[in-house]
Amino acid sequence: MTSTVDASPFVNSPARALVCRGCGTEFPLAAQHACYECFGPLEVAYDPAALKRVTREEIAGGPPNIWRYASLLPAGQDPATRVTLDPGFTPLVPAPALAREVGLRAPLWVKDDSANPTHSFKDRVVSVALTAARALGFDRYACASTGNLANSVAAHAARAGVPSMVFIPSDLEPGKVITTAVYGGDVVAIDGSYDDVNRLCSELTETDEFESTAFVNVNVRPFYAEGSRTLGYEVAEQLGWRLPKQVVIPMASGELLTKIDKAFAELVEFGLVEAPADGWRVFGAQSAGCNPIALALQEGRDDIIPQKPTGIAKSLNIGDPAAGVYALEAVRRSGGWMAYADDEEIRDAIGLLARTTGIFAETAGGTTVAALRKLVAEGRLDPEAETVVYNTGEGLKTLDAVADRVGPTYRVKPSLRAARDAGLLG
Ligand SMILES: *Cc1c(COP(=O)(O)O)cnc(C)c1O
Ligand SMILES: [Zn+2]
Repeated sequence: MTSTVDASPFVNSPARALVCRGCGTEFPLAAQHACYECFGPLEVAYDPAALKRVTREEIAGGPPNIWRYASLLPAGQDPATRVTLDPGFTPLVPAPALAREVGLRAPLWVKDDSANPTHSFKDRVVSVALTAARALGFDRYACASTGNLANSVAAHAARAGVPSMVFIPSDLEPGKVITTAVYGGDVVAIDGSYDDVNRLCSELTETDEFESTAFVNVNVRPFYAEGSRTLGYEVAEQLGWRLPKQVVIPMASGELLTKIDKAFAELVEFGLVEAPADGWRVFGAQSAGCNPIALALQEGRDDIIPQKPTGIAKSLNIGDPAAGVYALEAVRRSGGWMAYADDEEIRDAIGLLARTTGIFAETAGGTTVAALRKLVAEGRLDPEAETVVYNTGEGLKTLDAVADRVGPTYRVKPSLRAARDAGLLG
C-alpha cells in the first residue's frame, strides 16, 4: 500500500496509516475499523521519527488538557480543527489512608478521571475520535454506549453544534440517561444488552442513511482508542516524568488497559522517561457479573468466552470485549494479574475510596478499588511497590449503588436542647 500522507485530511498529524492488529496489513487513514484481509481490528500507526521528536518541554508548554500531547495523537494538531471539551490533566491524588486500609506500604495514587467535563475518562477518547471524524467529513456523531460514552458524545456534539444520535441499553442507570439526554441530541434506548446495541450500530454504519454518521467506537474506533493513551502520558508527567511500578485499570472492552500499557512503552521508547529497572506491571479489574477477560486469565485461556453481563457495574458490562485478547496479552507480558469483584464488594469499595480520599466514584471505580484490595490480599500486587489506581467515573451518575447504605447520621429538631438530647454534644 502506498503512503497516503500527502492526501491525508490529517494536517501535521504524526499518524501514517491504519494497521491491522492481526496480520499487519496497512490501510489509509479513513473511517475503517476492520481489516479487509483477516477481519482483525485496526489501530493507528505513526511515523516513529515524528513521535521521537517530541520533548518534555514542548508538552509542558501545552494547554492543561489532553491537547498538550497533540503531537502524539492522530488528529487535532491545529486547535481550530478540534471537536472537544478540552478534557484531561485530571488530578493524581495521593492516597496514603487508602494504602493503609488495603495493606500497601508504598505510595498509592488515585488518577481521578471523574474530574473530566462529563465526569468520566470517555471525554478523552471522544475528543480524539470526533476530531478525526470532523477531519474525515462526518456531519453527525453517534456511539454504542454502556452509559458514559453516550454522555460524552452528546455533550461534545452540543458544544460543536453538530447533531448526535446515541444508542444505549434501555436498562441504564437514570443518572446516565438524564446527563445524556439533557444535551438535546437523540437518545435511542435499545431493549437489549450493550453487545446487542453494538451489533445494531455496526449494521447501521453499513446503511446509506448513516453514511455520514461517525460512530465513535465503531467506524472511527481506531481513532477513539488512541485517546486512552493520554491516561498513561499524564500519570508519567504528573509523577515528574517517571513510571509507576504497578497500575490497576478497569476493563470493559479492555481497550483502556492496552493503551495505558502502550503509552508507558512509548514514553520509554521516545526517551521521555527512563526505563524502570524491572518494568511496570499492569493489573485489570472487572465485576463478577461481567468478567470474561479476568476469567480467561485466571483459567489460563487465550480465548475470551462471551458472557451475558449482570450486576451494578454497568459501565463495564461488555460481554464480548473487542480488545480482550490484547488486554490479556499486556497483563501477561507485564507480569500483572486480573481480579473481579461482586456487587457487595463494589459498594464497599465505593465507600472505602470516598472515606479515605474524598473521591466519590461510580461503580467502575468501586470495581477497581475492590480489585486493588483483592490483588494485595492475594499477594498478586507487591505491597512495597508504588501503585496507581484509575478512577474512571463519577459517583453522582450511579447514586442508586449506595443510596440505601448512606444517609443522615442524626435527625434532630432545630434546637440546642434537641441537639443535646440526640447526643451531638457528646
Ligand atoms: C468505558 C469505561 C471503562 C472501560 O473502557 P474500555 O476501554 O472499554 O475497557 C472504564 N470505566 C468507565 C467509567 C467507563 O465508562
Ligand atoms: Zn488483518
